[in-house]
Amino acid sequence: MPRPERTRVFVVANQKGGVGKTTSTVNIAAALAQLGQRVLVIDLDPQGNASTALSVDHRRGTPSTYDALVDGVPLADVVSPSPDLDGLFVVPATIDLAGAEIELVSVVAREGRLKKAISGHPWVGTAAEAGDERFDYVLVDCPPSLGLLTLNALVAGEEMLIPIQAEYYALEGLGQLLETVEMVRAHLNPALEVSTILITMYDARTRLAAGVADEVREHFGNQVLRTAIPRSVRVSEAPSYGQTVMTYDPGSPGALSYLEAAREITGRAATRRGGSA
Ligand code: ADP
Ligand code: MG
Repeated sequence: MPRPERTRVFVVANQKGGVGKTTSTVNIAAALAQLGQRVLVIDLDPQGNASTALSVDHRRGTPSTYDALVDGVPLADVVSPSPDLDGLFVVPATIDLAGAEIELVSVVAREGRLKKAISGHPWVGTAAEAGDERFDYVLVDCPPSLGLLTLNALVAGEEMLIPIQAEYYALEGLGQLLETVEMVRAHLNPALEVSTILITMYDARTRLAAGVADEVREHFGNQVLRTAIPRSVRVSEAPSYGQTVMTYDPGSPGALSYLEAAREITGRAATRRGGSA
């Protein structure tokens, strides 16, 4: 699997909770690592669910996203390797991050803190800048809101991955998310692009899920990955073992789908406005 020419930063966001942001972040990250890519997950949700799934400590006091965002600690000082997979690294989130939403309000350039932290990491950039140790992918797992934390992610990334749960209210609230993206693109980050939509918790037995998937594909066209992630108990029980489904049950339909989704992502060169992929 060829590596991208420079680090691709993905923001995984949807202000709705429970749509599969965290599950998709950790499993796509793990799948990319299994495909030989070097991957950094930044946990930007105070709940720390991505940290748990990747088996990285996130008790209070652990060096974390909070330190990088609020105190300007270099990102390299708060990164830990995920124990189960080579090439997979995590910046964990502690519960302190819940306060950052408010603490950041009075900080200078408050919406650009994460961007600064990421671009300051020596392993972020082109092959020429960062060498073979560079991260190929950075995935930012956002909290379920459109506050300052998510805004920081939207300013920091160039590509957005929106997980959409295949259920009745799937498209509700997406308008607000896309308006926020437009606002960020107009004022803060012209490079931001909704590159990837992933349909999650797809239940092939129901007509409802098929209908929702059709609607999402009609609306977003080829931004939607061909692979949809099926609803599967193995996917949901993996975090309780401190694992992704990619290592917990690699042959299960959920794991195979995430692997396929990761392959699709590596195969899609980002078509960036005003820049090269
Ligand atoms: P978010 O980060 O958007 O809040 P999560 O990734 O935490 O959403 O997922 C919400 C819940 O749905 C979790 O309990 C998770 O285990 C479960 N879940 C996510 N994807 C699947 C799936 N494909 N099959 C079964 N359960 C899933
Ligand atoms: Mg989450």
